[in-house]
Amino acid sequence: MADAMVLDGKSTAAAIRAEIAEQVAQWKTRSGVTPTLAAVLVGDDPASQVYVRNKERACEKAGMDSRLVRLPAETTTEELLQQLDRLNQDAAVHGILVQLPLPKHIDAQSVLDRVSPNKDVDAFAAENVGLLVQGRPRFLPCTPHGVVHLLHRYGLPVQGRHVVIVGRSDIVGKPLANMLVARDCGLGQEYANATVTVCHSLSRSLADITRSADILVAAVGQPRLITADMVQPGAVVIDVGINRTDQGLVGDVDYDAVRSVASAITPVPGGVGPLTIAMLLQNTFAACRLQTSPRAAG
Ligand code: NAD
Repeated sequence: MADAMVLDGKSTAAAIRAEIAEQVAQWKTRSGVTPTLAAVLVGDDPASQVYVRNKERACEKAGMDSRLVRLPAETTTEELLQQLDRLNQDAAVHGILVQLPLPKHIDAQSVLDRVSPNKDVDAFAAENVGLLVQGRPRFLPCTPHGVVHLLHRYGLPVQGRHVVIVGRSDIVGKPLANMLVARDCGLGQEYANATVTVCHSLSRSLADITRSADILVAAVGQPRLITADMVQPGAVVIDVGINRTDQGLVGDVDYDAVRSVASAITPVPGGVGPLTIAMLLQNTFAACRLQTSPRAAG
């Protein structure tokens, strides 16, 4: 079998970001309002600092403003909640993201739930999770949205197909499953209405399940967990994993081997990762429009 088509997240994300930048420029002329994202970073985890910096840079390139709120690692849950209350009340801030992971002593769910639902551009607050489950999302969570966008850009529909998602996190696996079983998650019915199976660390016979996938999504955080014998010939393979190893960044999929079995595959890096940031920009812009009065928006 010929090698799989490589789903290029980098160029797809660049095209989406260029579209967003154009829309933001027109919006600013019309409304005089600059979409603004506030990122809250607690502690000094080096990877988190890089992620936040990348998000800030992406905002600037799209013509949006960004603000970084840096808090020391010893910040208490209560102090963080108070900071979020200030950002929630600040009319100049349209989107708020709390960079994860938070230090262990902080009650992460209560923090995520405190972000005003209209500013919750990661879509992690309970209200937005509930709306997604009900099939009427306010914002779509960035990484799952990026996955569906990539499938859409390459014309790989999921309707009626069996999608197997390995990983059930609140950030990737669960919200992606909810998007794919919905009747429409914003990109048309062809990119929803899937038959979805979610696997996790206690799933038995993982390989039997993954082999039945038309579209296989790995979101685990274990280098090369998905080997070629776990993939149905001709399947589409989406690798969400980002693992730092001695050989550099690798995904959850054994890329070199799976490439000769799959019909399409995402690389790591340069696959899903860049789409996540593009979707964050899209949500920040949407949040800004949502919070701007119709008169100002013109
Ligand atoms: P997580 O640790 O919260 O969840 C991992 C999931 O994998 C859990 O549901 C667990 O049950 C499951 N799992 C663990 N071992 C397993 C096994 N042997 N078999 C089957 N399932 C198993 O992780 P997460 O936050 O969802 O992130 C997953 C990966 O995706 C990480 O590598 C992370 O860095 C990456 N990620 C990438 C992006 C991106 O933008 N591309 C965004 C978020 C996360």
